Amino acid sequence: MINIAIDGPGGAGKSTIAKAAAKELGYIYVDTGALYRSVGLYALRKDVKTDSADEVVPLLKEITVELKFIDGSQRVFLNGEDVSEEIRTPEASMAASNVSAIQAVRDFLFDLQRDIAKANNCIMDGRDIGTVVLPDAQVKIFLTASAEERAKRRYIQLTEKGQEVNYEDVLKELQERDYQDSHREIAPLKPADDSVIVDTTEINLEQSIDTVVNVIRERI
Ligand code: C5P
Repeated sequence: MINIAIDGPGGAGKSTIAKAAAKELGYIYVDTGALYRSVGLYALRKDVKTDSADEVVPLLKEITVELKFIDGSQRVFLNGEDVSEEIRTPEASMAASNVSAIQAVRDFLFDLQRDIAKANNCIMDGRDIGTVVLPDAQVKIFLTASAEERAKRRYIQLTEKGQEVNYEDVLKELQERDYQDSHREIAPLKPADDSVIVDTTEINLEQSIDTVVNVIRERI
């Protein structure tokens, strides 16, 4: 199977770019952030402290997370309920970042990610795909952009979805999450040694997709 790993900070355009590249190449696109968001959402619903391993770990035995690919697009199910939209709020983002720093949560989601990659040609995006989940991926890309540009894009995306947010809050939340994701002890966000870095600050979406598709085509 052909496995492509795309990692990078939040708002770098990973999901949009990976989705488009996957479509062009005929692979499935796997958004692993949705898994951490689902666990985070469950913890939020249970009203536990999402950064407390003592409170989050006991919940894992109550949780089943599944990914389904319907017409090529991914839906995530939390105990049978489609939570694909509900996991996209800023609260769920922060909860995801919190629970994702807990080793037991990462272990809990590891096999699911590996099994999908074993069975499918895929582009998988996340934070530790090239470094931990798929160290043997044929192509590894680290997609990044400046924090301000990422916040701008995320702000537009959320506003278009009808969520009421302000730019300063979005920027602050992204920076907080970047810091937390890059400084945690386990599976921190960092480029794999053999990754290709693609910075999209100065290029538009179409150019970013072309760049990523070209990087992949050159290597497979
Ligand atoms: O990619 P997304 O923004 O949806 O991810 C939400 C959070 O889940 C991230 O901030 C990160 O803390 C965590 N995550 C992770 N490892 C992954 C994917 C996401 O730790 N492979």
